[in-house]
Amino acid sequence: MPATHTSFEGDSAAAASAARVRVLLPLPLAGAYDYTVPQGMNVAAGDFVSVPLGARRVAGVVWGQATDEVDAKKVKPIAARLAAPPMSEELRQLIDWVANYTLSPPGAVLRMAMSVPDALDASRSLVGYGIGLPGREALADAAAKLSAPRRRVLVEASQAPGTAADLARRAACSDGVVKGLARVGLLEPVELPRRAPLEPPDWRLPGPALSSAQGIAATELIAKLGQGFSTTFLDGVTGSGKTEVYFAAIAKALEQGKQVLVLLPEIALSAQWLQRFARRFGVAPAQWHSDLGHAERRETWRAVASGEARLVVGARSALFLPFHELGLIVIDEEHDQSFKQEDGVIYHARDMSVVRASLAKIPIVLVSATPSVETQVNVDEGRYGRLHLPARHGSARLPEIRLLDLRRTPPERRSFLAPPLLEAMRVTLEAGEQTMLFLNRRGYAPLTLCRQCGFRLNCPNCTAWLVEHRFHHRLQCHHCGHAESMPPLCPNCGAAGSFAACGPGVERVAEEVAQKFPQARAVVMASDTLPGPHAAAEILERVERHEIDVLIGTQVVAKGHHFPLLTLVGVVDADLGLEGGDLRAAERSFQLLHQVAGRAGRAEQPGLVLVQTFHPENPVMRALVADDRDRFLRLEADERERHGNPPFGRLAALIISGDSEAAAEDAARAFARSTPHLPGVEVFGPAPAPLQILRGRHRKRFLVKARRGVRIQHVMRDWLTRVKLPSNARVQVDIDPYSFL
Ligand code: ADP
Ligand code: ZN
Repeated sequence: MPATHTSFEGDSAAAASAARVRVLLPLPLAGAYDYTVPQGMNVAAGDFVSVPLGARRVAGVVWGQATDEVDAKKVKPIAARLAAPPMSEELRQLIDWVANYTLSPPGAVLRMAMSVPDALDASRSLVGYGIGLPGREALADAAAKLSAPRRRVLVEASQAPGTAADLARRAACSDGVVKGLARVGLLEPVELPRRAPLEPPDWRLPGPALSSAQGIAATELIAKLGQGFSTTFLDGVTGSGKTEVYFAAIAKALEQGKQVLVLLPEIALSAQWLQRFARRFGVAPAQWHSDLGHAERRETWRAVASGEARLVVGARSALFLPFHELGLIVIDEEHDQSFKQEDGVIYHARDMSVVRASLAKIPIVLVSATPSVETQVNVDEGRYGRLHLPARHGSARLPEIRLLDLRRTPPERRSFLAPPLLEAMRVTLEAGEQTMLFLNRRGYAPLTLCRQCGFRLNCPNCTAWLVEHRFHHRLQCHHCGHAESMPPLCPNCGAAGSFAACGPGVERVAEEVAQKFPQARAVVMASDTLPGPHAAAEILERVERHEIDVLIGTQVVAKGHHFPLLTLVGVVDADLGLEGGDLRAAERSFQLLHQVAGRAGRAEQPGLVLVQTFHPENPVMRALVADDRDRFLRLEADERERHGNPPFGRLAALIISGDSEAAAEDAARAFARSTPHLPGVEVFGPAPAPLQILRGRHRKRFLVKARRGVRIQHVMRDWLTRVKLPSNARVQVDIDPYSFL
């Protein structure tokens, strides 16, 4: 009898003594649990199964054979094998690897790979809402008092039914509106037709004729496909054709029948990338990010598992999708910090992608114009290959970058744009070209204080100032999201009308632009003024159609957009990123400013970048002006090496938080008492975290620094097991920390 599915003990043995397997559940439990395999059921490692857990049923993955340690009476049988393609060995290894590396429970990592549990339920049809007779009557009845959003939803539903999320998106309202209509019977639940099968990207479509440098790079990348694991840094200035080059490698991987994963930072803002992909390959790619509706995530997860989705572009969590035929991974803007996930399982998606590539024995390409020091050092030391595109494509030239020393040419009182920048804007406007002003600070002003008593408006939950957002008429905490309206009187001295806004945010710069250039069409783009990805795409399209003269934005405008008429970039406060002073502050500033500068003059027109700074002698500013990235990276790397900082040494942070100051202190003392004393390991702290109070929790930090060869995970794990954490405190481990707040 041919077995379609192999059990661990062979078909006959399985029937005799009840076989036992370990099942990993997508929950933050210590490890996998044992279950017996009922007679007649065959399971193998990787199978998705449903098992009892207390009174619940939970879907999990068969992780391997059980040891017989657990008392047989306590072991329950698997309830069902689920009809989803089994999880590949490579993905299971990745989950264990990431759990080990980040000191997270494996189930917490598995949860990222099973983020849409009902995707396992093949039979489940997609339920949505459609319009019935009552709804149609309400629409037709002029006397029916329908709110505008409700009316829009009904109109949309009358055109085509959809899921709540889908209808809400089409009608530009919340899904609460849709559900409200369903409750009152104006919408009715309907079974939606299964979506049409995904059309595969067409690799046969011709790409552009590549320049010779591009052609060489593409050929070399293509040669790595199917040849096992390799990591390649694809290096080139903005506009040099890196995307075209990796598109060529993607086309080849698709031709070879492989799946491809592309990770982008801020996928929700990557409308131009998506359009470009669609032009090159004939169809839109499958997407994976947190702005997708549940139904879309479910379908995409299934399509990846079944192999129907050939290419996925996504944010960091796409790394854990259930590919079975992955042949190539691309990490675009590899230096971007948004690849580091800072809560839950704290991991770096770029680094863990390299791990996945090595487990899957496939090539991975890291793409950047301004690599991280880590990647540069990996290239220098021969672990990563490098392919280089030396010049911008076509006639586009790199912009000229000039520093504006704010000590010598200060802005007028209550202004933030220095006279030379204002003059350049005037010239640019008159030439019918576009300006971008960059300031990496949301809101109107970062600090509001009372002119009478000096009181500063603080967040009640965090050690942080409240940021005024005039656009929303709110004060907001950028750490916990707390929002309140501006108090009428100073809460400290009771003075009226005494508040003064200190410093600029993008909204305040927009105000200045409106005053000085009333005829210019200006728009602010920051994550909080954008209600969603569509809004971002819409603004960018308006810039492209030249309906906007001045684009004022935070780092969301720094990324990848290409505007032919944008010839002037003004950096309002280049020193901002250097303030934090953490280990990567200079690197990050350089990357961001370089990227922003790269927005200027990408077509025929030459570009000019004016950088306002109080520190023109700072190495970041000097490297920027001299366009000497490599020297800057070398200096940075030397500096890190001298201090034993990453990647020349290892860092891990331990963040302790408590309900009260005393609780945090007690817990920190407990850790301090059993601080590891090991050769090559230094422990700093406990110190109050820079954000001493975050979301109402009091915080202390330790920083562990180890020589390169030390297994820092062992040190941390050992330390954690020696401390009994009081119940009113929590501890988080951050291996390779990027944030030091
Ligand atoms: P990067 O990814 O390095 O920023 P892109 O691949 O986005 O560079 O290329 C910049 C611009 O030049 C894009 O509009 C792209 O389509 C165009 N381009 C690059 N290489 C070629 C080529 N060989 N032929 C035609 N257009 C190209
Ligand atoms: Zn707060």
